[in-house]
Amino acid sequence: MALLEIEHLKKYFPSARGTVHAVDDVTFSIGKGETMGLVGESGCGKSTLGRTIIHLLESTEGTIRFQGEDVTRLDKRGLKKLREDMQIIFQDPYSSLNPRLTVHDTVVEPLMLSKRFEGDALEAEADRLMDLVGIEKRFRMSYPHELDGGRRQRVGIARAIALNPKLVVCDEPVSALDVSIQAQILNLLMDLQEEYELTYLFVTHDLSVVRHISTNICVMYLGQMVETCPTQELFDHPLHPYTKALLSAIPTIDIHNQKERILLKGEINSPINPKPGCRFALRCPYATEKCHQPVELHEISEGHFCSCCRLNEIN
Ligand code: SF4
Repeated sequence: MALLEIEHLKKYFPSARGTVHAVDDVTFSIGKGETMGLVGESGCGKSTLGRTIIHLLESTEGTIRFQGEDVTRLDKRGLKKLREDMQIIFQDPYSSLNPRLTVHDTVVEPLMLSKRFEGDALEAEADRLMDLVGIEKRFRMSYPHELDGGRRQRVGIARAIALNPKLVVCDEPVSALDVSIQAQILNLLMDLQEEYELTYLFVTHDLSVVRHISTNICVMYLGQMVETCPTQELFDHPLHPYTKALLSAIPTIDIHNQKERILLKGEINSPINPKPGCRFALRCPYATEKCHQPVELHEISEGHFCSCCRLNEIN
């Protein structure tokens, strides 16, 4: 059974110029222990989608089912329980950590608020968590500004997993880190996933990162899903012109397998009151009149969905 199923999820924001369709009719599911990589350029709605799923933002329309139960409109008590089961790791741990709390106090806080631990048991659990994420003892009384980015992110991870969540939204958790530190944090996330059967929604603009960590990938463009399938299938047989452009931008050191970079020209459509039709049409090299009709996501082969009305002609 899927741990998380979202159906026709929408998140709109009012603005002075009209309604911003930040997330527009997104449907997918994630199985327990799996990782769904959510990719796309900045501003495509992937972070908003992650935050809407874990109820940091209220959805405009659609369904979010968690462990089979519709959690779209919960009362206060239901929300409190859900917040323990669904956690988030932010891109910038510096702005998400309280600058006045030490590492120790930051990790202790959620344990204390949950009332699951007290006294020696509380201290022992905090120590266990800090050991688990690799925060050395000498840094445990330090403040966030005294830590490097990697250690700050380890604190963010310790906090996120403190209450044994089932789903963790990882919102660009390594994009602010040096490449060598990125690999350490990704390995830590994968070890934790294996040990605690965590399910991840991994939001990133970096396809080489999701290739490493994801079971499935969902590609978003201007608030909509344009392609989704298992990770290896996406890298072996990308279908949507936007996915192909993203993949062509991944640098490779294999001189025998260099791909020509697909440079996207044209303006990006506005997410404010978007017109019907393919939202990628203004930048797509294959766009024709036909593309200005509404396009839908179709299953092209088992588990591989894509929204492009000219697939047969361009692949
Ligand atoms: Fe390009 Fe048309 Fe396909 Fe959109 S529907 S990706 S514009 S060919």
